Amino acid sequence: MQEYTYLKSKELLERACKVLAAGVSSEFRKYNHPHALFYSHGKGSRIYDVDGNEYIDFTLSQGPLILGHSHPALLGDIANYSEMGQLYAGQHIQEVELAEALNRLIPCAELMRFCLDGSEAVQTALRVARSKTGRQLFLRFEGHYHGWLDNVAYGLGHPQGESMGERNDPQVFPWSAGLADNSRREFIIIPWNDEKLLEQTIVKYKDDLAAVITEPVMCNNGCIMPRPGYLEKMRGLTRQFDIAFIMDEVITGFRMGLSGAQGYFGVEPDMAIFAKAMGSGYPISAIVGKKSWMDEIATGRVIHAGTMNASNPTVAAALSTIRILESDAHVYERIFRLGLKLKEGLIVLNKTYGQNMLVQGPGPMLNTSFTDLKEVYEFRDVLQADKRKLGVFVAKLHDRGIRIIGRGLWYISAATTDSDVEAALVAVGEVLKEMKT
Ligand code: PLP
Repeated sequence: MQEYTYLKSKELLERACKVLAAGVSSEFRKYNHPHALFYSHGKGSRIYDVDGNEYIDFTLSQGPLILGHSHPALLGDIANYSEMGQLYAGQHIQEVELAEALNRLIPCAELMRFCLDGSEAVQTALRVARSKTGRQLFLRFEGHYHGWLDNVAYGLGHPQGESMGERNDPQVFPWSAGLADNSRREFIIIPWNDEKLLEQTIVKYKDDLAAVITEPVMCNNGCIMPRPGYLEKMRGLTRQFDIAFIMDEVITGFRMGLSGAQGYFGVEPDMAIFAKAMGSGYPISAIVGKKSWMDEIATGRVIHAGTMNASNPTVAAALSTIRILESDAHVYERIFRLGLKLKEGLIVLNKTYGQNMLVQGPGPMLNTSFTDLKEVYEFRDVLQADKRKLGVFVAKLHDRGIRIIGRGLWYISAATTDSDVEAALVAVGEVLKEMKT
Protein backbone atom coordinates (compact mmCIF):
# COMPACT_ATOMS: atom_id res chain seq x y z
CA MET A 1 0.00 0.00 0.00
CA GLN A 2 1.31 3.44 -0.98
CA GLU A 3 2.09 5.45 2.12
CA TYR A 4 0.23 8.76 2.33
CA THR A 5 2.19 11.50 4.11
CA TYR A 6 1.16 15.11 4.58
CA LEU A 7 4.40 16.95 5.36
CA LYS A 8 4.18 19.73 2.75
CA SER A 9 0.57 20.43 3.74
CA LYS A 10 1.68 20.63 7.36
CA GLU A 11 4.39 23.16 6.52
CA LEU A 12 1.97 25.23 4.47
CA LEU A 13 -0.59 25.11 7.25
CA GLU A 14 1.95 26.43 9.75
CA ARG A 15 2.76 29.27 7.34
CA ALA A 16 -0.94 29.93 6.65
CA CYS A 17 -1.84 30.09 10.35
CA LYS A 18 0.33 33.20 10.68
CA VAL A 19 -1.89 35.17 8.29
CA LEU A 20 -5.15 33.25 7.79
CA ALA A 21 -7.28 32.57 10.87
CA ALA A 22 -6.67 28.88 11.67
CA GLY A 23 -5.04 28.65 8.25
CA VAL A 24 -8.31 28.28 6.33
CA SER A 25 -11.06 30.27 4.62
CA SER A 26 -14.02 28.24 5.88
CA GLU A 27 -14.62 26.55 9.22
CA PHE A 28 -15.32 23.20 7.57
CA ARG A 29 -11.90 23.09 5.90
CA LYS A 30 -10.20 22.82 9.31
CA TYR A 31 -11.50 19.29 9.72
CA ASN A 32 -9.51 17.22 7.29
CA HIS A 33 -7.21 14.30 7.92
CA PRO A 34 -4.81 14.60 9.66
CA HIS A 35 -5.22 18.42 9.54
CA ALA A 36 -6.28 21.01 6.98
CA LEU A 37 -4.69 20.02 3.68
CA PHE A 38 -3.50 21.94 0.63
CA TYR A 39 -4.36 20.75 -2.86
CA SER A 40 -2.51 21.35 -6.12
CA HIS A 41 -5.08 20.34 -8.75
CA GLY A 42 -8.14 18.29 -9.58
CA LYS A 43 -9.16 16.44 -12.74
CA GLY A 44 -12.34 14.45 -13.32
CA SER A 45 -13.07 12.29 -10.30
CA ARG A 46 -9.59 12.86 -8.79
CA ILE A 47 -7.95 15.47 -6.63
CA TYR A 48 -4.23 15.79 -5.78
CA ASP A 49 -2.64 17.36 -2.72
CA VAL A 50 0.68 19.22 -2.50
CA ASP A 51 2.38 16.10 -1.12
CA GLY A 52 1.57 14.33 -4.40
CA ASN A 53 -1.17 12.15 -2.92
CA GLU A 54 -4.00 11.21 -5.28
CA TYR A 55 -7.58 10.75 -4.09
CA ILE A 56 -10.80 9.59 -5.64
CA ASP A 57 -12.83 12.57 -4.54
CA PHE A 58 -16.25 11.80 -3.09
CA THR A 59 -16.40 15.18 -1.31
CA LEU A 60 -16.79 17.07 -4.60
CA SER A 61 -15.89 20.23 -2.69
CA GLN A 62 -18.84 19.70 -0.30
CA GLY A 63 -21.19 19.05 -3.22
CA PRO A 64 -20.76 21.62 -6.01
CA LEU A 65 -18.66 19.60 -8.44
CA ILE A 66 -21.49 17.75 -10.18
CA LEU A 67 -19.30 17.57 -13.33
CA GLY A 68 -16.18 16.56 -11.39
CA HIS A 69 -12.99 18.63 -11.35
CA SER A 70 -11.88 20.85 -14.26
CA HIS A 71 -14.42 19.78 -16.87
CA PRO A 72 -12.82 21.09 -20.10
CA ALA A 73 -16.05 22.34 -21.74
CA LEU A 74 -17.05 24.13 -18.53
CA LEU A 75 -13.69 25.85 -18.19
CA GLY A 76 -13.77 26.76 -21.91
CA ASP A 77 -17.23 28.34 -21.66
CA ILE A 78 -16.21 30.35 -18.61
CA ALA A 79 -13.01 31.57 -20.24
CA ASN A 80 -14.83 32.54 -23.45
CA TYR A 81 -17.53 34.51 -21.71
CA SER A 82 -15.09 36.13 -19.29
CA GLU A 83 -13.16 37.55 -22.23
CA MET A 84 -16.15 39.86 -22.80
CA GLY A 85 -15.70 41.34 -19.34
CA GLN A 86 -16.28 40.26 -15.78
CA LEU A 87 -18.96 42.44 -14.22
CA TYR A 88 -21.00 45.32 -15.67
CA ALA A 89 -23.09 46.74 -12.81
CA GLY A 90 -25.79 46.07 -15.37
CA GLN A 91 -27.58 43.26 -17.12
CA HIS A 92 -26.28 40.83 -19.73
CA ILE A 93 -27.93 38.35 -22.06
CA GLN A 94 -26.59 35.18 -20.47
CA GLU A 95 -28.22 36.14 -17.20
CA VAL A 96 -31.62 36.10 -18.89
CA GLU A 97 -30.80 32.84 -20.64
CA LEU A 98 -29.90 31.29 -17.29
CA ALA A 99 -33.15 32.50 -15.71
CA GLU A 100 -35.08 31.11 -18.69
CA ALA A 101 -33.33 27.76 -18.29
CA LEU A 102 -34.16 27.55 -14.57
CA ASN A 103 -37.73 28.62 -15.32
CA ARG A 104 -37.99 25.76 -17.84
CA LEU A 105 -36.41 23.14 -15.53
CA ILE A 106 -37.55 23.89 -11.97
CA PRO A 107 -41.27 23.59 -11.17
CA CYS A 108 -41.61 26.57 -8.78
CA ALA A 109 -39.17 28.88 -10.62
CA GLU A 110 -41.53 31.46 -12.09
CA LEU A 111 -39.38 34.42 -11.03
CA MET A 112 -35.90 34.49 -9.53
CA ARG A 113 -32.87 36.49 -8.46
CA PHE A 114 -29.23 35.44 -8.51
CA CYS A 115 -26.90 35.77 -5.50
CA LEU A 116 -23.46 34.49 -4.56
CA ASP A 117 -24.10 31.63 -2.17
CA GLY A 118 -26.67 29.57 -0.35
CA SER A 119 -26.49 31.45 2.94
CA GLU A 120 -27.55 34.81 1.52
CA ALA A 121 -30.20 33.32 -0.77
CA VAL A 122 -31.79 31.68 2.31
CA GLN A 123 -31.93 35.08 4.04
CA THR A 124 -33.52 36.63 0.96
CA ALA A 125 -36.27 34.01 0.98
CA LEU A 126 -36.97 34.62 4.67
CA ARG A 127 -37.20 38.37 4.02
CA VAL A 128 -39.67 37.79 1.19
CA ALA A 129 -41.75 35.53 3.44
CA ARG A 130 -41.88 38.13 6.20
CA SER A 131 -42.76 40.91 3.81
CA LYS A 132 -45.64 39.05 2.16
CA THR A 133 -47.17 37.53 5.28
CA GLY A 134 -46.52 40.40 7.68
CA ARG A 135 -45.39 37.78 10.24
CA GLN A 136 -41.97 37.35 11.83
CA LEU A 137 -41.24 33.75 12.86
CA PHE A 138 -39.97 30.88 10.76
CA LEU A 139 -40.12 27.17 11.50
CA ARG A 140 -37.06 25.02 10.92
CA PHE A 141 -35.79 21.58 11.89
CA GLU A 142 -33.10 20.12 14.15
CA GLY A 143 -29.92 19.25 12.23
CA HIS A 144 -30.87 21.09 9.04
CA TYR A 145 -28.17 23.44 7.79
CA HIS A 146 -29.21 26.65 6.05
CA GLY A 147 -25.90 28.49 6.09
CA TRP A 148 -23.74 30.11 8.71
CA LEU A 149 -25.59 33.39 9.38
CA ASP A 150 -27.01 34.22 12.82
CA ASN A 151 -30.66 33.19 12.67
CA VAL A 152 -29.90 29.71 11.30
CA ALA A 153 -26.74 28.99 13.34
CA TYR A 154 -28.57 26.99 16.01
CA GLY A 155 -29.64 23.38 16.45
CA LEU A 156 -26.70 21.97 14.52
CA GLY A 157 -24.79 20.32 17.34
CA HIS A 158 -25.47 19.27 20.87
CA PRO A 159 -23.07 19.29 23.82
CA GLN A 160 -22.58 15.78 25.16
CA GLY A 161 -24.64 15.01 28.24
CA GLU A 162 -27.11 17.86 27.62
CA SER A 163 -30.76 16.94 27.21
CA MET A 164 -32.30 17.51 23.79
CA GLY A 165 -35.41 18.80 25.56
CA GLU A 166 -39.00 18.00 24.72
CA ARG A 167 -39.80 17.25 21.09
CA ASN A 168 -42.20 20.19 20.97
CA ASP A 169 -39.81 22.50 22.82
CA PRO A 170 -36.22 21.44 22.06
CA GLN A 171 -33.15 22.69 23.88
CA VAL A 172 -31.22 24.61 21.29
CA PHE A 173 -27.57 25.55 21.39
CA PRO A 174 -25.83 28.21 19.30
CA TRP A 175 -23.26 26.95 16.81
CA SER A 176 -21.06 29.99 17.31
CA ALA A 177 -20.24 32.69 19.81
CA GLY A 178 -21.15 36.23 18.85
CA LEU A 179 -24.66 35.60 17.54
CA ALA A 180 -27.14 38.44 18.05
CA ASP A 181 -29.38 37.71 21.06
CA ASN A 182 -32.43 38.46 18.95
CA SER A 183 -31.53 35.80 16.41
CA ARG A 184 -32.77 33.04 18.76
CA ARG A 185 -36.17 34.69 18.83
CA GLU A 186 -36.62 34.53 15.05
CA PHE A 187 -37.45 30.83 14.76
CA ILE A 188 -39.22 27.80 16.20
CA ILE A 189 -37.33 24.53 15.88
CA ILE A 190 -38.60 20.93 16.06
CA PRO A 191 -37.38 17.47 15.04
CA TRP A 192 -37.89 16.62 11.35
CA ASN A 193 -39.90 13.81 9.74
CA ASP A 194 -42.66 13.81 12.38
CA GLU A 195 -45.97 14.68 10.69
CA LYS A 196 -48.02 14.94 13.85
CA LEU A 197 -45.56 17.29 15.53
CA LEU A 198 -45.35 19.36 12.35
CA GLU A 199 -49.09 19.79 12.26
CA GLN A 200 -49.38 20.61 15.98
CA THR A 201 -46.60 23.20 15.70
CA ILE A 202 -47.91 24.90 12.58
CA VAL A 203 -51.43 25.07 13.98
CA LYS A 204 -50.12 26.48 17.28
CA TYR A 205 -47.98 29.19 15.68
CA LYS A 206 -49.93 29.83 12.48
CA ASP A 207 -50.60 33.49 13.28
CA ASP A 208 -46.89 34.20 13.77
CA LEU A 209 -45.28 32.00 11.12
CA ALA A 210 -43.99 33.63 7.96
CA ALA A 211 -42.22 30.53 6.63
CA VAL A 212 -41.34 26.89 7.02
CA ILE A 213 -37.87 26.09 5.69
CA THR A 214 -36.62 22.56 5.11
CA GLU A 215 -33.97 20.59 3.31
CA PRO A 216 -36.07 18.20 1.19
CA VAL A 217 -33.59 15.43 2.01
CA MET A 218 -31.80 15.96 5.33
CA CYS A 219 -28.43 15.84 3.60
CA ASN A 220 -26.37 17.62 6.23
CA ASN A 221 -27.03 15.10 8.96
CA GLY A 222 -27.49 11.46 8.02
CA CYS A 223 -28.69 11.93 4.43
CA ILE A 224 -32.21 11.13 5.53
CA MET A 225 -35.08 10.85 3.06
CA PRO A 226 -38.42 12.40 4.02
CA ARG A 227 -40.93 9.85 5.24
CA PRO A 228 -43.62 9.18 2.62
CA GLY A 229 -46.16 12.00 2.70
CA TYR A 230 -44.10 14.28 4.95
CA LEU A 231 -43.22 16.96 2.37
CA GLU A 232 -46.77 16.76 0.99
CA LYS A 233 -48.10 17.38 4.50
CA MET A 234 -45.78 20.38 4.85
CA ARG A 235 -47.02 21.68 1.50
CA GLY A 236 -50.66 21.24 2.52
CA LEU A 237 -50.34 22.91 5.93
CA THR A 238 -48.33 25.88 4.69
CA ARG A 239 -50.83 26.45 1.89
CA GLN A 240 -53.74 26.18 4.32
CA PHE A 241 -52.34 28.90 6.57
CA ASP A 242 -50.68 31.12 3.89
CA ILE A 243 -47.20 30.40 5.23
CA ALA A 244 -44.27 30.37 2.79
CA PHE A 245 -42.94 26.88 2.09
CA ILE A 246 -39.21 27.28 1.36
CA MET A 247 -37.29 24.29 0.06
CA ASP A 248 -33.56 24.61 0.62
CA GLU A 249 -32.24 22.81 -2.45
CA VAL A 250 -28.65 23.95 -1.97
CA ILE A 251 -27.53 20.30 -1.97
CA THR A 252 -30.37 18.54 -3.80
CA GLY A 253 -30.51 21.07 -6.67
CA PHE A 254 -28.90 19.67 -9.86
CA ARG A 255 -27.86 16.66 -7.78
CA MET A 256 -31.13 14.71 -7.69
CA GLY A 257 -31.97 15.82 -11.23
CA LEU A 258 -32.39 18.97 -13.29
CA SER A 259 -35.67 19.80 -11.58
CA GLY A 260 -34.22 19.34 -8.09
CA ALA A 261 -35.83 17.48 -5.21
CA GLN A 262 -39.11 19.27 -5.92
CA GLY A 263 -39.22 17.52 -9.31
CA TYR A 264 -38.01 14.23 -7.80
CA PHE A 265 -40.69 14.18 -5.09
CA GLY A 266 -43.37 16.02 -7.06
CA VAL A 267 -43.87 18.60 -4.30
CA GLU A 268 -43.80 22.25 -5.33
CA PRO A 269 -42.70 24.82 -2.74
CA ASP A 270 -43.41 28.55 -2.86
CA MET A 271 -39.72 29.39 -2.98
CA ALA A 272 -36.51 27.39 -3.26
CA ILE A 273 -32.79 28.01 -2.93
CA PHE A 274 -30.27 26.67 -5.42
CA ALA A 275 -26.50 26.98 -5.04
CA LYS A 276 -23.61 24.44 -4.93
CA ALA A 277 -24.00 22.21 -8.04
CA MET A 278 -25.81 24.96 -9.95
CA GLY A 279 -22.48 26.71 -10.58
CA SER A 280 -20.13 23.70 -10.56
CA GLY A 281 -17.88 25.39 -8.01
CA TYR A 282 -18.35 29.03 -9.08
CA PRO A 283 -20.04 31.46 -6.66
CA ILE A 284 -23.61 31.67 -7.88
CA SER A 285 -26.91 30.85 -6.21
CA ALA A 286 -30.56 31.54 -6.93
CA ILE A 287 -33.66 32.25 -4.98
CA VAL A 288 -36.47 31.04 -7.22
CA GLY A 289 -40.19 31.07 -6.53
CA LYS A 290 -43.79 31.49 -7.47
CA LYS A 291 -44.59 34.90 -8.90
CA SER A 292 -47.02 35.67 -6.07
CA TRP A 293 -44.10 35.51 -3.58
CA MET A 294 -41.26 36.80 -5.74
CA ASP A 295 -43.31 39.87 -6.63
CA GLU A 296 -42.23 41.19 -3.23
CA ILE A 297 -38.81 41.66 -4.85
CA ALA A 298 -40.10 42.53 -8.32
CA THR A 299 -42.13 45.44 -6.93
CA GLY A 300 -39.20 46.70 -4.86
CA ARG A 301 -40.96 46.17 -1.52
CA VAL A 302 -38.20 43.73 -0.61
CA ILE A 303 -34.68 44.85 -1.32
CA HIS A 304 -32.26 42.32 -2.67
CA ALA A 305 -28.87 43.51 -3.89
CA GLY A 306 -25.25 42.53 -4.33
CA THR A 307 -22.38 44.14 -6.22
CA MET A 308 -21.00 40.80 -7.37
CA ASN A 309 -24.29 39.09 -8.29
CA ALA A 310 -24.51 37.31 -11.65
CA SER A 311 -21.00 38.14 -12.83
CA ASN A 312 -20.04 36.86 -16.29
CA PRO A 313 -17.93 33.87 -15.16
CA THR A 314 -20.47 32.63 -12.62
CA VAL A 315 -23.43 32.89 -14.99
CA ALA A 316 -21.39 31.21 -17.72
CA ALA A 317 -20.54 28.43 -15.24
CA ALA A 318 -24.20 27.82 -14.41
CA LEU A 319 -25.33 27.91 -18.05
CA SER A 320 -22.49 25.63 -19.07
CA THR A 321 -23.29 23.18 -16.26
CA ILE A 322 -26.90 22.95 -17.43
CA ARG A 323 -25.85 22.61 -21.08
CA ILE A 324 -23.40 19.79 -20.29
CA LEU A 325 -25.86 17.94 -18.04
CA GLU A 326 -28.64 18.26 -20.62
CA SER A 327 -26.41 17.05 -23.45
CA ASP A 328 -25.95 13.67 -21.72
CA ALA A 329 -29.36 11.98 -21.70
CA HIS A 330 -28.24 9.34 -19.20
CA VAL A 331 -26.20 11.42 -16.78
CA TYR A 332 -28.59 11.21 -13.81
CA GLU A 333 -29.34 7.55 -14.51
CA ARG A 334 -25.58 6.96 -14.22
CA ILE A 335 -25.16 9.07 -11.08
CA PHE A 336 -28.02 7.21 -9.35
CA ARG A 337 -26.80 3.81 -10.59
CA LEU A 338 -23.26 4.41 -9.32
CA GLY A 339 -24.55 5.74 -6.01
CA LEU A 340 -26.72 2.67 -5.52
CA LYS A 341 -23.87 0.37 -6.56
CA LEU A 342 -21.73 2.03 -3.89
CA LYS A 343 -24.54 1.80 -1.33
CA GLU A 344 -25.19 -1.89 -1.98
CA GLY A 345 -21.46 -2.65 -1.89
CA LEU A 346 -21.08 -0.86 1.44
CA ILE A 347 -24.01 -2.77 2.92
CA VAL A 348 -22.53 -6.11 1.83
CA LEU A 349 -19.09 -5.23 3.23
CA ASN A 350 -20.62 -4.17 6.50
CA LYS A 351 -22.26 -7.59 6.83
CA THR A 352 -19.08 -9.39 5.79
CA TYR A 353 -17.05 -7.67 8.50
CA GLY A 354 -19.76 -7.69 11.17
CA GLN A 355 -19.72 -3.91 11.69
CA ASN A 356 -22.56 -1.56 12.64
CA MET A 357 -22.18 0.77 9.68
CA LEU A 358 -25.47 2.27 8.52
CA VAL A 359 -25.68 3.49 4.91
CA GLN A 360 -28.48 5.89 3.97
CA GLY A 361 -29.31 8.17 1.07
CA PRO A 362 -30.78 8.09 -2.41
CA GLY A 363 -27.53 7.49 -4.37
CA PRO A 364 -26.22 10.84 -5.68
CA MET A 365 -25.47 11.48 -2.00
CA LEU A 366 -25.01 8.83 0.67
CA ASN A 367 -24.13 8.81 4.32
CA THR A 368 -22.17 6.27 6.34
CA SER A 369 -22.41 6.26 10.12
CA PHE A 370 -21.72 3.76 12.89
CA THR A 371 -24.81 3.11 14.94
CA ASP A 372 -26.90 0.23 16.25
CA LEU A 373 -30.09 1.82 14.87
CA LYS A 374 -31.48 0.09 11.77
CA GLU A 375 -32.50 3.40 10.23
CA VAL A 376 -32.20 7.05 11.28
CA TYR A 377 -35.11 9.41 10.70
CA GLU A 378 -34.06 12.64 12.40
CA PHE A 379 -31.20 14.52 14.05
CA ARG A 380 -31.80 12.95 17.49
CA ASP A 381 -31.05 9.55 15.90
CA VAL A 382 -27.97 10.95 14.17
CA LEU A 383 -26.56 12.14 17.49
CA GLN A 384 -26.54 8.58 18.83
CA ALA A 385 -23.97 7.46 16.22
CA ASP A 386 -20.36 6.70 17.17
CA LYS A 387 -18.42 9.76 15.98
CA ARG A 388 -15.05 8.41 17.09
CA LYS A 389 -15.48 5.26 15.01
CA LEU A 390 -16.57 7.32 12.01
CA GLY A 391 -13.44 9.45 12.41
CA VAL A 392 -11.24 6.33 12.28
CA PHE A 393 -13.11 5.07 9.20
CA VAL A 394 -12.76 8.39 7.33
CA ALA A 395 -9.06 8.72 8.22
CA LYS A 396 -8.19 5.17 7.17
CA LEU A 397 -10.02 5.63 3.86
CA HIS A 398 -8.19 8.90 3.32
CA ASP A 399 -4.84 7.17 3.84
CA ARG A 400 -5.87 4.82 1.02
CA GLY A 401 -6.77 7.61 -1.41
CA ILE A 402 -10.53 7.71 -0.84
CA ARG A 403 -11.69 11.17 0.19
CA ILE A 404 -15.12 11.53 1.78
CA ILE A 405 -16.64 14.30 3.90
CA GLY A 406 -15.71 13.97 7.59
CA ARG A 407 -19.30 13.56 8.77
CA GLY A 408 -19.61 10.44 6.59
CA LEU A 409 -21.10 11.95 3.44
CA TRP A 410 -20.29 10.71 -0.09
CA TYR A 411 -21.17 12.55 -3.31
CA ILE A 412 -21.21 11.07 -6.83
CA SER A 413 -20.53 13.24 -9.89
CA ALA A 414 -20.90 12.86 -13.64
CA ALA A 415 -17.15 12.12 -13.66
CA THR A 416 -17.35 9.24 -11.16
CA THR A 417 -16.80 5.88 -12.86
CA ASP A 418 -17.57 2.25 -12.12
CA SER A 419 -13.91 1.66 -11.39
CA ASP A 420 -13.86 4.56 -8.91
CA VAL A 421 -16.71 2.95 -7.01
CA GLU A 422 -15.05 -0.46 -7.17
CA ALA A 423 -11.75 0.97 -5.89
CA ALA A 424 -13.62 2.70 -3.05
CA LEU A 425 -15.29 -0.56 -2.08
CA VAL A 426 -11.94 -2.40 -2.01
CA ALA A 427 -10.61 0.29 0.35
CA VAL A 428 -13.71 0.15 2.55
CA GLY A 429 -13.35 -3.65 2.80
CA GLU A 430 -9.75 -3.28 3.98
CA VAL A 431 -10.69 -0.58 6.47
CA LEU A 432 -13.65 -2.42 7.98
CA LYS A 433 -11.51 -5.54 8.29
CA GLU A 434 -8.80 -3.55 10.04
CA MET A 435 -11.31 -1.88 12.36
CA LYS A 436 -12.59 -5.26 13.43
CA THR A 437 -9.25 -6.44 14.72
N1 PLP B 1 -28.32 25.22 2.73
C1 PLP B 1 -27.84 23.98 2.69
C2 PLP B 1 -28.79 22.82 2.64
C3 PLP B 1 -26.46 23.76 2.67
O1 PLP B 1 -25.97 22.51 2.65
C4 PLP B 1 -25.60 24.88 2.69
C5 PLP B 1 -24.14 24.71 2.68
O2 PLP B 1 -23.61 23.63 2.84
C6 PLP B 1 -26.16 26.17 2.73
C7 PLP B 1 -27.53 26.31 2.74
C8 PLP B 1 -25.29 27.39 2.75
O3 PLP B 1 -24.74 27.53 1.49
P1 PLP B 1 -23.35 28.31 1.28
O4 PLP B 1 -22.29 27.51 1.93
O5 PLP B 1 -23.23 28.38 -0.22
O6 PLP B 1 -23.53 29.67 1.87
